[in-house]
Amino acid sequence: MALTGIEIFKKLPKKNCGECGVPTCLAFAMSLAAGKAELSACPYVSEEAKQELGEASAPPIRPLTMGTGDYALKIGGETVMFRHEKTFINPPGLAILITDTMEEAEIERRLQQFDLLQYERVGLLLRPELIAIKAESGDAQKFQQVVDKVKSSTKASIILMSQNPEILAAALPGCQDRKPLLYAATKDNWEKLADLAKQSGCPLAVRGENLDELAELTTKLTQAGLKDLVLDSGARTPRQLLEDQIITRRAALLKKFRPLGFPTIAFPCEMTDDLMEETLIASTMIAKYAGIIVLSDFQGESLFPLLLARMNIYTDPQRPMATTQGIYEVGSPTEESPVLVTTNFSLTYFIVSGEIETSRVPSWLLVQDTEGLSVMTAWAADKFVAETIAPFVKKSGITDRIKHRKLIIPGYVAQISGELEEELPDWEIVIGPRESAHIPAFLKTWKPN
Ligand code: SF4
Repeated sequence: MALTGIEIFKKLPKKNCGECGVPTCLAFAMSLAAGKAELSACPYVSEEAKQELGEASAPPIRPLTMGTGDYALKIGGETVMFRHEKTFINPPGLAILITDTMEEAEIERRLQQFDLLQYERVGLLLRPELIAIKAESGDAQKFQQVVDKVKSSTKASIILMSQNPEILAAALPGCQDRKPLLYAATKDNWEKLADLAKQSGCPLAVRGENLDELAELTTKLTQAGLKDLVLDSGARTPRQLLEDQIITRRAALLKKFRPLGFPTIAFPCEMTDDLMEETLIASTMIAKYAGIIVLSDFQGESLFPLLLARMNIYTDPQRPMATTQGIYEVGSPTEESPVLVTTNFSLTYFIVSGEIETSRVPSWLLVQDTEGLSVMTAWAADKFVAETIAPFVKKSGITDRIKHRKLIIPGYVAQISGELEEELPDWEIVIGPRESAHIPAFLKTWKPN
């Protein structure tokens, strides 16, 4: 039975050190009781307390890691229904489907798409993580060959898909070191799949015909000693899938219903032949709780928006994405090059530096820490004003790198130019464009004197 916050508090170290992310042990105990924290966040809990707190401190949705190296994927571990309550933690993995009945050339194309479709955005690498290999031929050897090919061609995490335990068992040794997800245990094969998952240490997906059957299966599997499970409710219509995803998340978080306390897998690829519709279902699953989403193919026009949606949904809403304060060189600036100043909101930094690059005018870009706020918001919050910019410019060390004393400020804060000139009497303050798209034309007129 779940423990109350006070009962948990009695077993905590009571150091009130704050290392768990909240200021006191009592606050941490309350978060644990509400399923919003993990016991492992406190480094001082005794082994005895860990044993005693056991179930009560277990995360309501068990986290698991599949794959290895750069492509290792952690899913589950979520603690809230809605992103704005705190944050979503582990972004869902996106998988491309490959079957053992596909032509060799088509398999090659999909492997190339997997490697090719990677994007850099606000300093992050956005890319898919998984390849789902499905046995359709019924031929264990053929399946094994495709698995070997995928493994030797990419470092992707792998999902092995067959409900035939013999076919999975034949292919597994060739990729076991990649820690693939085995898909899927059903009411007919769960004992054999449980053995395979136990022997190999690989996570196991469980498919029910509905949530009731799924809960019965996970109960049997956990009683058999398996912990790393991934849920498939069997829903293959958008409406049923969405309902199942919400019921599963609510049952795990709000009711602490352990049989559904695992990450989920969704198959938009099995729900439509229309790429647009499939992409819409996948985007719904990004927002509504899937841990893995399997797509029929990767096309840039559908994958890129999904990667962006995923990045946005899984960005902590309480922490704006920020760049480190400092001097950034764009191109190879000299002591005659222009000096621009902006805030450390990541999007601002990447847009401004991108436009400077486009101008082909090597420049110094001073990025001031405004706690991740954009120019106008930081100005309104008194974080990007003459009193903060001037000390930053003085301490930045930029004067050691340039001969001139001209500072370009964003056009949106033109109103601070007078005050800034008072704070920086040696400098000439130049008002830059309001819109970053106008930076290239503006910089082309640059003269240091
Ligand atoms: S890290 Fe542990 S000891 Fe420190 S405040 Fe958190 S619960 Fe208490």
